[in-house]
Amino acid sequence: MPPPPVFRLPSSVFPLKRHHHGLPWPRLHREEKIACGFCDAVQQAPPLREGEAAYCVHCGELLYQNRPRSLSRATGFSIAALIFMALAHAFPFLTMSAAGSRTELTLVACARALSADGEPLLAWLCVIFTIVAPVLLTAGLLYLCAPLMLGRALPGARWIARTFQRSEPWSMLEVFLLGFIVSLLKLGSVAEIHFHVGLWALVAVVLSLAGATAGIDRRELWDRLELAFAR
Ligand SMILES: [Zn+2]
Repeated sequence: MPPPPVFRLPSSVFPLKRHHHGLPWPRLHREEKIACGFCDAVQQAPPLREGEAAYCVHCGELLYQNRPRSLSRATGFSIAALIFMALAHAFPFLTMSAAGSRTELTLVACARALSADGEPLLAWLCVIFTIVAPVLLTAGLLYLCAPLMLGRALPGARWIARTFQRSEPWSMLEVFLLGFIVSLLKLGSVAEIHFHVGLWALVAVVLSLAGATAGIDRRELWDRLELAFAR
């Protein structure tokens, strides 16, 4: 009896780079030096295997680490964060009933309420730090990491990587969520509060965003970009 025919896709259809577990990430230059961000000591930056971390020889500060399956983690968590962001904006995160009036809250409604209360600057800051910055950060990381899984870099990737690193501290969704939870403790005694899908989506956004940004070491990101541009 002849063996069953084997169907194989040509390699050019899915040129996905196979993930080699346990190998250091590829680099353009073998010998590299790094300055410690804490004590400024300049030292050799050895390639690391997955799961390993490099520490400063002088002060012991963490220099960089090779996070397991970094590109797929950063890409997966970024996609999840974008989906949860859409849900967090599409559905209210709570309804508040007090003295016969009922209010539905979303992120945009919070900013609108601040503006209506005569705080337009605060409303704009709320929009920038809790809506615009998280969306740009996540989309930027996805734009960088998804093509890098194929060993490619899209146009403007260097500028996006630089902007990503600079704007990282300005995403304050978790600060908003913390402030929101604290205010709930006070509001709970004067109004009836019901939670909705939007709130759980917002919690999921904060967790996915943390997973995405912590998914890949910035040194690895730059090394992979440099290599992709050199091709
Ligand atoms: Zn140091």
